[in-house]
Amino acid sequence: MFENLSERLSGVFDRLTKQGALSDDDVATALREVRVALLEADVSLPVARDFVKAVQAKATGQAVTRSVTPGQQVVKIVHDELVAVLRGADDPGALKIDNAPAPILMVGLQGSGKTTTTAKLARRLKDKNGKRVLMASLDTNRPAAMEQLAILGRQIGVDTLPIVKGETAVQIARRAKTHASLGGYDVYMLDTAGRLHIDEVLMDEVQAVRDVANPRETLLVVDGLTGQDAVNVASEFDGKVGITGVVLTRMDGDGRGGAALSMRAITGKPIRFIGLGEKMDAIEPFEAERIAGRILG
Ligand code: GDP
Repeated sequence: MFENLSERLSGVFDRLTKQGALSDDDVATALREVRVALLEADVSLPVARDFVKAVQAKATGQAVTRSVTPGQQVVKIVHDELVAVLRGADDPGALKIDNAPAPILMVGLQGSGKTTTTAKLARRLKDKNGKRVLMASLDTNRPAAMEQLAILGRQIGVDTLPIVKGETAVQIARRAKTHASLGGYDVYMLDTAGRLHIDEVLMDEVQAVRDVANPRETLLVVDGLTGQDAVNVASEFDGKVGITGVVLTRMDGDGRGGAALSMRAITGKPIRFIGLGEKMDAIEPFEAERIAGRILG
């Protein structure tokens, strides 16, 4: 779908460029196509509408019709507006980890890439920031998920909290906190249980864990390929738990930007990282310019 968006936008702007001088009607027609293209790329309707309105206001204000290359000028306005909407935190990759041990809470639905992302970020904190990190899985329903985190931990050389059968998520969070304090860790990461869908039980558990850990960062991991669903998930989690940022995974896939745009516009929360594959180093701080470029193609 992302390819549709970029192809469509290039098509629209190619036509604009070839036309030379533009009337207000030309701009309006082009922007209508931009709106349709955004919708097709899973950008939500109100976001697409507001986006086009903002671009139209700027295009009209800037006397596009008299410029030498009006098409290019519109492209630039669309690009700049994309960057403006997408840009969140000044330094998205800088996690708040002062006051050791700093808790980081990882939340999200099952299958979003939460466990993988927890390990990727732990590895980054260790290798790039020289931090001692402890990871703990709180997924008491899925022993395999706990084991998965332990395996990843061994692979990247990051400690995981020993698994104790029969504990609740809150008990594990408490033990992680104590273990991190006594063990001299800089950061401890809590990989909460996911569900296939958002439900009360999940939210209650995440809230209880949050209250025990008092996290410095609460990062929501969402599958960047799920479009509008990703935005709904983000709104729910932010409303119930309060998140400090979003990690969009699977951005190595067909590279769509639609989810990123809606996510920013609707939740107002910064996108902090993007996941770019299954390997442990396949994660990068979010860059608005780069995603805007991908959306435009
Ligand atoms: P969880 O249930 O949310 O903890 O999800 P997992 O971390 O177990 O990830 C589910 C699957 O998605 C695994 O096979 C991961 O390797 C894969 N995955 C996670 N992040 C990415 C990503 O950014 N890109 C790709 N291509 N795969 C990913």
